[in-house]
Amino acid sequence: MTQRIALYPGSFDPVHFGHMDIAQRAAKIFDQLIVAVYENPKKPVSFSASERVSMLKTALAELENVTVCAYTGLTVNLARSVGAQVLVRGLRVISDFEMEYQMALTNQQLCAEIDTICLMTRYEYAFLSASLIKEVFMAGGDVSQMVPPVVEESLLRRRDQRRADGAEILKLSL
Ligand code: ADP
Repeated sequence: MTQRIALYPGSFDPVHFGHMDIAQRAAKIFDQLIVAVYENPKKPVSFSASERVSMLKTALAELENVTVCAYTGLTVNLARSVGAQVLVRGLRVISDFEMEYQMALTNQQLCAEIDTICLMTRYEYAFLSASLIKEVFMAGGDVSQMVPPVVEESLLRRRDQRRADGAEILKLSL
């Protein structure tokens, strides 16, 4: 029987509980889930692709059918090359829907045989976003209920590094 392989692409800058919940649920639906970190040279990010991959690997280590990689270029090209039939995305609010809808239709145009499936967030994660988490953390807030320990450690290291570099005002975006 053909393996059902899904690709979950995103920035994951950094991974948080909302992302992890989508990955855990998708891993139950598909035989294999590939979580793919998008390396967009034009998009400013806080963590390098290899840091984001490493944090995801640690965060999702318990899921046996999940692998993590980084990619550039078109998501559908990666999907084709790894044999994925489905793209998985998460939905929080209506504003996510507009963007996801546009992206799903574009990907459908580019590659008709690959479908997009959106999983609704759990309500306790509906407010979570990577940028908000970074703002909260840099302002001294507790993010332990939002990110796995590996991410909290990376955020701490980043903050300490900034302080050691003598940054008087910690940039909220890291
Ligand atoms: P992108 O830049 O591709 O949107 P993100 O890392 O922000 O990358 O998000 C990756 C995917 O995870 C997207 O489909 C996004 O909607 C989803 N996502 C982000 N935050 C949450 C959350 N709190 N709950 C569920 N899904 C989420």
